Amino acid sequence: KKLGVALVGLGYYSTDLLAPALQLTQFCELKGIVTGSPEKIPQWQRKYGILDSDVYNYENMHKLANNPDIDIVYIVLPNGLHKKFSIVAAEAGKHVWCEKPMAVSVSECEEMISSCKKNKVQLSIGYRMQHEPVTQKIIEWAKTKPFGNISKIYAEAGYRSSGGNASHWKCNPELGGGSMYDMGVYPLNAIRYASGLEPIAVSAISQNTRPASFNVDETMIFDLEFNNGLQAKGKCSFAEHINDLKVDCENGWYRLQPFQSYSGVQGVTSAGERLLPFKGNQQAKQMDDDALAIMNGSNPIVSGEEGLKDIRIVKAIYTSAQRNGQRILINT
Ligand code: NAD
Repeated sequence: KKLGVALVGLGYYSTDLLAPALQLTQFCELKGIVTGSPEKIPQWQRKYGILDSDVYNYENMHKLANNPDIDIVYIVLPNGLHKKFSIVAAEAGKHVWCEKPMAVSVSECEEMISSCKKNKVQLSIGYRMQHEPVTQKIIEWAKTKPFGNISKIYAEAGYRSSGGNASHWKCNPELGGGSMYDMGVYPLNAIRYASGLEPIAVSAISQNTRPASFNVDETMIFDLEFNNGLQAKGKCSFAEHINDLKVDCENGWYRLQPFQSYSGVQGVTSAGERLLPFKGNQQAKQMDDDALAIMNGSNPIVSGEEGLKDIRIVKAIYTSAQRNGQRILINT
């Protein structure tokens, strides 16, 4: 039997990507919804055959505890709400999938991890790239080093968001807005997975071309320092379309361009090898990998601990940017 998934938050990512992907999955299926927008319910029920008994709102979501249709609760809310609703799900005894970034502080991530442990449920974070086959090759190369030791990594991801809609939660610091939380975790995670190493210090600057009402970081540029001398530079932005991961090694290089789009992740190496795009659906692969981990009782590919590692670095990046690029050690 397929595991039943309930999506929490029916915004862009749930509507356009996750719900359609859950029609392609082999080991899990869309069974329930949790929403604060009653007007969305009829169309979701019609489109996906969701029963009345599998529809919840944020206030009664704890009652999922009594619902055997739902095995997994997928948190697809503004970043500042990830912790609260992940814990409601874990306490209802449901496995938790939570979108990236995991949460907005180290202590929030730690609370999520301990709640899932206490309630004996799995926790995995929606870093879809780590499930994507071309990316997985790059992750493997961090160990096998086909071009020798890695000397430099550059990673950047961003999109141009129109107008600077200051009322959107991505522009609201209270809800975990800002380009570093939204897009910065992609280059950051990529530098970590492409190197297989953890940075020891960061230095960052933030740039903003928007009106003063836009009070989150628009562009963040960060340098990561490693204790073996590897240098890495990351960039994220709400101001430009960028999507590139380049790895320089002793005896060559490889590059993914784009490295984090929903499809078409592809690359080339200095030896002329082409890394061809995955033909499947990334979100379906991610959710099937995570459903299988639950069925088999094995560790998910992207654990809460992995999500936490990024947030610890994100916080150091924000601190450095506030201090005009001061070098900040990462406390592990
Ligand atoms: P969105 O704004 O389109 O949707 C957010 C949903 O949360 C909306 O339905 C909104 O009604 C609901 N919501 C509940 N309480 C809210 C509140 N207090 N303020 C604002 N909205 C509230 O956002 P999205 O783009 O779907 O992003 C949701 C999450 O998914 C984020 O964590 C984001 O980082 C993540 N995401 C991940 C990917 C990916 O590729 N992995 C892609 C897009 C978004």
